[in-house]
Amino acid sequence: MARSSSGRDKGVNTRLAHLGNDPHDFFGFVNPPVVHASTVLFPDAATMASRNQKYTYGTRGTPTSDALADAVNALEGSAGTIIVPSGLAAVFVPLMAFLSAGDHALIVDSVYAPTRMFANTMLKRWGVEVDYYDPLIGGGIAALMKPNTKVVFTESPGSNTFEMQDIPAIAAAAHAGGAVVMMDNTWATPLYFKPLDHGVDISIHAATKYPAGHSDVLAGLVSANEATWKRLWDTFVSLGIPAGPDDAYQVLRGLRTMGVRLERHQRSALDIARWLEGQPGVARVLHPGLESHPGHALWKRDFCGASGIFSVVLDAGGQKEAHAFLDALEIFGLGYSWGGYESLAVLVNLSDRTVARGSYEGPIIRLQIGLEDVADLKADIGKALAAARA
Ligand SMILES: *Cc1c(COP(=O)(O)O)cnc(C)c1O
Repeated sequence: MARSSSGRDKGVNTRLAHLGNDPHDFFGFVNPPVVHASTVLFPDAATMASRNQKYTYGTRGTPTSDALADAVNALEGSAGTIIVPSGLAAVFVPLMAFLSAGDHALIVDSVYAPTRMFANTMLKRWGVEVDYYDPLIGGGIAALMKPNTKVVFTESPGSNTFEMQDIPAIAAAAHAGGAVVMMDNTWATPLYFKPLDHGVDISIHAATKYPAGHSDVLAGLVSANEATWKRLWDTFVSLGIPAGPDDAYQVLRGLRTMGVRLERHQRSALDIARWLEGQPGVARVLHPGLESHPGHALWKRDFCGASGIFSVVLDAGGQKEAHAFLDALEIFGLGYSWGGYESLAVLVNLSDRTVARGSYEGPIIRLQIGLEDVADLKADIGKALAAARA
């Protein structure tokens, strides 16, 4: 059971408790060693010349990074996983691996904003053509495919507004056109959606969020299928950006409890989302686990859970009312990122979107529901709603 290759018939929390390292590889200590490494020594000149040994240099992996990568491969069903220093690095390394000057990339318009920034600056500067597409496009993406379309980038649900994408339909059309399909799967984690089982080639995670889970680590994970793994690995080695061993260790440590944390995030967030639908001052709640959400059927078909972040649309007002809401909060912190144990709120800004701007009744406020008690969180939000209406 300690080996990542075994235990597929076991429950997810059993697997999370044991995936990755085998304690008996290191004197029986339950956790793997944190190996700080640049140089690795070779026993003789011939081995040095052939590099025929398991570890050769710190940028190419250590027992610590292997323990995390093996655990993630077992969860994602991937051929290989790279561990990089941030979620944003986990986005740009695969894009760099599969795009060259003269290529075309299709990126979902509801994408994480810094992904768009990378595409609009770096990718365009390097001569890659970028188009954004409607998150609801489904198989209709076939009409946007060009002969030089090499990457179709998805993220579902979308950042901040939580549009659900029909991933299997998009992947089928993208593959028919010869493109590699990537998915930013940070919201669901591999526990609630397995991209590679739905036609995606490369699954991307900001491990900063639920895997690390404590708002104190930046890390990214990229997991590839057989067909894309070698090119991803070669790009990773060319760029030389492995996450540090302490951060890789902290992400593996976080995985051990991610199942139970997510259960609580899911339950609290759904409870609060349902409650919010009946509160004065609320126009709608953007949470795919709600029956009222336009993407609910897709979520039910493909996903097996929901994490703890969603948005609420106020029924009127603008920035002034949104700021009154945010300033009235006492438990929710005002801050970016999410996936930690504490609740957070942020005013959503959709001004960079080109296709999926949508039409909203009032300001959109994104809530990350932490592990606090739901009654306290509801009381905090209730005060904020009253402040926005005052
Ligand atoms: C936060 C986030 C990232 C980036 O992660 P960092 O570790 O903060 O760089 C990427 N994608 C999504 C969807 C995110 O929410």
